[in-house]
Amino acid sequence: MPYETQQCEVEPDVSAPEFPVQFCPVCSLWLEPRRCKMICPQCGYFMSCSDYE
Ligand SMILES: [Zn+2]
Repeated sequence: MPYETQQCEVEPDVSAPEFPVQFCPVCSLWLEPRRCKMICPQCGYFMSCSDYE
């Protein structure tokens, strides 16, 4: 009797962060999510989370 190994190890690429990755248009740094906005740690540029989907 063949041992049925049904291991669907197809891991979906769910490395999606809570927020869509946004980069600072000024210095191209990764904006950090802060409450309801994404803010650049370097220049302080920020965009509100409601500005995009
Ligand atoms: Zn910046």
